[in-house]
Amino acid sequence: MLAAMEPLTHMLTGACLSRAMGFPKRARYSTLACVIAAELPDADYVYRLGGPVTYFEHHRGWTHALWSLPLQAAFVVLLMFGWRYARRAWKSRRRRGRQEAPWRPWLLGCMALVALLSHLLLDWTNNYGVRPFAPFNPRWYAGDLVFIVEPVLLLVLSLALVLPLVFSLADSEMGVRRSRFRGQGLAAAALAVMVGLWLWRYDLHGSAVHVGDEQQLAGGCGDAGVAGSVPGKPIPMAQCG
Ligand SMILES: [Zn+2]
Repeated sequence: MLAAMEPLTHMLTGACLSRAMGFPKRARYSTLACVIAAELPDADYVYRLGGPVTYFEHHRGWTHALWSLPLQAAFVVLLMFGWRYARRAWKSRRRRGRQEAPWRPWLLGCMALVALLSHLLLDWTNNYGVRPFAPFNPRWYAGDLVFIVEPVLLLVLSLALVLPLVFSLADSEMGVRRSRFRGQGLAAAALAVMVGLWLWRYDLHGSAVHVGDEQQLAGGCGDAGVAGSVPGKPIPMAQCG
């Protein structure tokens, strides 16, 4: 059973967030930090070692709770400290003279927090939901707007990151020198498409619930009409609950 938004969507979102907010030129390793932070809450996968019952007990538990996000952001900054130390030890001479952003750990922490919040938001948009107040409040919240794997989002986010690379290659072949920090507009556009898709699905979701209610009134369903995101279907479907 797929119970987690697949990791690629989370990581691509983290990378696009970093680009869209202009982080790569403000703090070194910001995109790496955002990519890691955007997927870090799903580290609860390690609970699988304890068996399926333990995993489902803790899945989208404390790692997806709001109170733990600053701790996870601090962990990401620590990882970046380690990464910086390793790079300085092994590669510093070769990289000298290259255009690099300043080292700003506090800003990296803020970026990681934004990326961590994006993880919760993305998980909320599918039908499994999140427990943002676990373990103090066990209630699940689910937007049920998109299925766990959404090809449209994968395509748009990937293009926003790949196209600047392609343009850079074309520029270098023509001898045109441009800044390393490109793609901000495309990343912002991809995130805007993502939000637009959610809003569109939210609207369709309301219509599907309405159809379900009408079916219930007409005696077509036993209990209540429900609507949800269905694998392989582009829009929410009215179903008999
Ligand atoms: Zn998750």
